[in-house]
Amino acid sequence: MRFDILTLFPDIVHSYGSESILKRAQKAGFIKIAAHNFRDYTKDKQWHVDDKPYGGGAGMVLQVQPIWDCLKNIKALKNKKTKTSKQKTKIIILDPAGKKFNQRMAEKLSKLDRVILICGRYEGFDERIYKLADEKVSVGDYVLSGGELPALVIVEAVSRLIPGVLGNEESLLNETFGKGKYPVYTRPENFMGQKVPKILLSGDHKKIKEWRQKMAKIIHK
Ligand code: SAM
Repeated sequence: MRFDILTLFPDIVHSYGSESILKRAQKAGFIKIAAHNFRDYTKDKQWHVDDKPYGGGAGMVLQVQPIWDCLKNIKALKNKKTKTSKQKTKIIILDPAGKKFNQRMAEKLSKLDRVILICGRYEGFDERIYKLADEKVSVGDYVLSGGELPALVIVEAVSRLIPGVLGNEESLLNETFGKGKYPVYTRPENFMGQKVPKILLSGDHKKIKEWRQKMAKIIHK
């Protein structure tokens, strides 16, 4: 699976993508994360990618031209004439007013071949940029300074669902997001008087399983 991230700050993407699970997943060939600086595509002599809003108002607005050219160059324009493959692709704009990202959406995205994520900055996007995308997605009801963190949230949540990405497949089965979350403990047995429940030290796997199921029900009530 391939992720293309359009951003003005590709180093944010490189930095996070070159650590831990995403690093291993890329090395093993399960995923590929490419960051594209759409400033490289501006036709402005001063390298600007934003301008004042028509009609006045606060802040600067991202221009459509650099993003259009960037998508064209990476063969991701939705235009039929430029589409070269039958890949299952989705173009997503990160936007605080978009559809709320959740595990269900991550599962759907994990079935695709390619996800393209467009990160905003400043006051957001020229309205015509939305026409280049399939969907607007928000990672939560708060406003961040840019779309890079939201894009990486999506990349990581989706990548974890790709078979092979998590070394220990069991950790996906016991995923805490699901209804099966129960309390877990590790050493020491006693930390400043807070003790690990005795049942977990009993070695009785049947009873441990029952206890975990009971605790999961309490947690998710
Ligand atoms: N006034 C703008 C608006 O309401 O869209 C705020 C833009 S914000 C400062 C700059 C960019 O950060 C947005 O265009 C978007 O790409 C990204 N962003 C900020 N918060 C986000 C969120 N909760 N989910 C997804 N993207 C977000």
